[in-house]
Amino acid sequence: MATRHGINWDKALALYAAERDAFIGRMPRSRELSAAAANHLLFGVPLHWMDDWSTPFSLYVAAAQGARFRDVDGHDYVDFCLGDTGAMFGHSPKPVAAAIARQAERGYTAMLPSEDGVWVAEELARRFGLPYWQFALSASDANRFAIRWARAITGRSKVLIFNGCYHGTVDDVFVDLVDGRPQTRDSLLGQVYDITQHTRSVEFNDLAALEAALQDGEVACLLAEPAMTNIGMVLPQPGFWPAAQELCKRYGTLLLIDETHTISSGPGGYTRAHGLEPDLLVVGKPVAGGVPCAVYGFSVELARQAEAVKRSAPPGHSGIGTTLTANLLAMAAMRANLAEVMTDDAYRYMFGLAERLAEGLRRVIDAQRLPWCVTGIGARTEFQFAAAPPRNGSEAERILDSELEHIVHLFLLNRGLLITPFHNMMLVCPDTTPAEVDRLVAAFAAFVAAVR
Ligand code: PMP
Repeated sequence: MATRHGINWDKALALYAAERDAFIGRMPRSRELSAAAANHLLFGVPLHWMDDWSTPFSLYVAAAQGARFRDVDGHDYVDFCLGDTGAMFGHSPKPVAAAIARQAERGYTAMLPSEDGVWVAEELARRFGLPYWQFALSASDANRFAIRWARAITGRSKVLIFNGCYHGTVDDVFVDLVDGRPQTRDSLLGQVYDITQHTRSVEFNDLAALEAALQDGEVACLLAEPAMTNIGMVLPQPGFWPAAQELCKRYGTLLLIDETHTISSGPGGYTRAHGLEPDLLVVGKPVAGGVPCAVYGFSVELARQAEAVKRSAPPGHSGIGTTLTANLLAMAAMRANLAEVMTDDAYRYMFGLAERLAEGLRRVIDAQRLPWCVTGIGARTEFQFAAAPPRNGSEAERILDSELEHIVHLFLLNRGLLITPFHNMMLVCPDTTPAEVDRLVAAFAAFVAAVR
């Protein structure tokens, strides 16, 4: 009998074949649409990686509301993927829908500011403790712009990242450590210059390596998630961030914290929950309730330096912008979302549910003596195929198993439960119920029983 990550692999493969057949049989309309899409969409999907889900063809959504959605064949799902964070507070939250409806008659984009932006910046300052803010259309853009500011302000060229990170489609960060040496990520398409010339990478939780990378004084910024969330989950070890911040300060490197996923930690992200003091901070995805938008904040000192560096530059393109940035519609949606949806009460409720989910999954894993673990950060929970949580990107990468993920995910999906593709992440939102969490735990238990 072949075993893999503690499960019977022959049983797992047989189960996968049965689940694929079941999916194909139950989804005639999704199948029809996938066939039609193949005529005019590359890979038959609007974005190429939508073809990488566990399903034999794309699952088409008819409508999504709160914690649930319906597919075009009439099946209902509880959504624990939630647009992998874009819909972290539920699909179409009512206050956001109302704000969008109001704004629908008042213009979408004008290249001019609206009143909402003033309120939003004040609220962001209150939440995150950074007093000055700018906007972007996506977290990818916000990270790109923040890096540009950091380089312009410090006059340094290098960016430092943690191995295994993902910060969106930001060229500078596609560097992997291969046998301890930085290398441009081999999956990148159309890459023509060597990214490692200006980007350094060290392992997360490794303070000695961090100091070695900083000490020549050439690094403009350290771009990091407070906890890694894109290679499975890797939590910071106790004392890591206070020491890492201290090193950044000592060597004049700006700390750029990307809270796009770790905003699951609380209304002011991991930064506020754990007292971090970044120079720059990025949040994207759910900040406007799922309407494309991102924000980035500056400390007082950095804001003054940013204004000075821009004023002293020749007039013209700064490399920071995009026409639709801070558009009227996104600003209205963001105001409603921050005021009425991303509230302290919502977080309190989500934390309780995430705890219930993590405990439930752990009970199943322990009962079956599986060498798996459960990691969480606020409203975000992940199960991983190792007995102990990974401590850095390399360890986390070694335990990824996309084949096994596909089998688990498809099994759950055929039972009306969607979790995040490409790893094993689950989000709960203010509309998710305890009974739905229990359903997910029960289906996870059924999966494990079927392959043990
Ligand atoms: N930062 C982090 C931590 C992310 O996980 C992602 C996307 N997964 C991004 C930035 C980029 O977000 P977007 O794709 O919305 O630009």
